[in-house]
Amino acid sequence: MSASVAALKSHAVIVGAGPVGAVAALLLARHGIRVTLLERNSALVSASRASTFHPSTLDLLRSLGIDLAGHRAATTVTSLQWRNRDGEVLAELDYRLLIGLTSHPFRIHLDQQVLLDRLAELIADEPGVDLVCDTEVIALDAARAVVTAVSADGLRQTLKGDVIVGCDGSHSLIRQQAGLQLSVLPYPTVALRAYVETNLSALLPGSAPRPLSNLCYFRGGGDGVSVLRMGNVTRLIVRSSAHRADERRVAEAVAKATPWSLDSIAVQRIDSYRLGRGVVDSYLSDLGPVLVIGDAAHVTSTSGGMNMNSGIHDAFALMPALAGRLRGGADLLGVAHIAEERRRYMLHDVIPRTERVVRGLQDLAGPSLVTDLHGLAPLIANRAAHRNFLIEASLLDAPLAGLESITK
Ligand SMILES: Cc1cc2nc3c(=O)[nH]c(=O)nc-3n(C[C@H](O)[C@H](O)[C@H](O)COP(=O)(O)OP(=O)(O)OC[C@H]3O[C@@H](n4cnc5c(N)ncnc54)[C@H](O)[C@@H]3O)c2cc1C
Repeated sequence: MSASVAALKSHAVIVGAGPVGAVAALLLARHGIRVTLLERNSALVSASRASTFHPSTLDLLRSLGIDLAGHRAATTVTSLQWRNRDGEVLAELDYRLLIGLTSHPFRIHLDQQVLLDRLAELIADEPGVDLVCDTEVIALDAARAVVTAVSADGLRQTLKGDVIVGCDGSHSLIRQQAGLQLSVLPYPTVALRAYVETNLSALLPGSAPRPLSNLCYFRGGGDGVSVLRMGNVTRLIVRSSAHRADERRVAEAVAKATPWSLDSIAVQRIDSYRLGRGVVDSYLSDLGPVLVIGDAAHVTSTSGGMNMNSGIHDAFALMPALAGRLRGGADLLGVAHIAEERRRYMLHDVIPRTERVVRGLQDLAGPSLVTDLHGLAPLIANRAAHRNFLIEASLLDAPLAGLESITK
């Protein structure tokens, strides 16, 4: 530890170096807090998960020195389309309506690992963060702000912080041992994700000539397929009540809701994942100076791609205030207020948004699969509603007030 880092008085222990923990560590360090970041894996790694980065998140990450939109692998999404089974466009929402509200009037599709790699570089250059990999936290004493961790070679150690920040994902040990409750309500369907390299735009019928947007929702025959472009690969996302990677179910949804048939599409592979929703009863523990953010605090459906984005927002909303508190210049009530605002926003705004686009598909509402298209007409007819939908889908209304520029 360098002399200048040793001079930093306050110490935060962050458990979990996923995207949220790594962003939180950088933010605290840049606000003058010494950070120990504990990660059980040997590096910052993710199995392929989040792929959507919204305008609000791109703006925030740029303030940390991370330009994801400029990455060569980023796929830019400039409009959202809804199409019927004949391929005709029912509605198209244009991100240019966000010009003036964000320096990124588009969303991007990019693998979460690209963000983790960039965060690892910044952390390596940040003397205020001590990243300790191959180290699993196995216990928390919330009242004393002490964690017990075991390294890969079996060494056991205890670490004391002025605060413990749990960024250890949806199965968070920190949440459980800090006495915080998160009950996750599973949706009755799972998501099936089929990866295809076929050029689907070329397969659109002549009656539907407009190019396929990089994010398109097909609806028809009481079914639906989301079509997301990411680099050279297109992901077809279908809801299924069978809990397995089921090609027949993908073929059925494609036949009902799109102009294509799976026979003409080369599917590379299909995977499946479960979906649920829930928000912790409080981000802050009553037992001691411990808080949870990111997946440790909330789980949402992947529809709309909001959960990681929201976890990163948690870090940006809370870490500056927490640093102020640790340095002695701010009171705990300020942190508690922001935490509660974030919690309520997740519960009352973000979760309903993740559900609206897939209503009737994900929740199996009604006697058979139905799709909710009645909200589309007012969206196309009314420019303010159109713009508002994009603001909400981009999380540009997230409670992030007071955020200061922290460019290094
Ligand atoms: C299929 C899929 C698609 C998704 N798509 C999107 C999307 O497009 N957009 C979006 O915003 N979100 C998306 N998500 C959600 C997103 O992946 C998560 O919200 C995000 O990874 C949460 O980040 P996190 O840092 O909170 O938790 P995690 O990524 O789970 O990271 C937690 C870290 O903590 C470490 N850890 C856990 N326990 C311990 C311990 N005891 N000791 C030490 N280390 C520990 C883990 O090893 C891990 O590195 C998707 C999720 C899935 C499953």
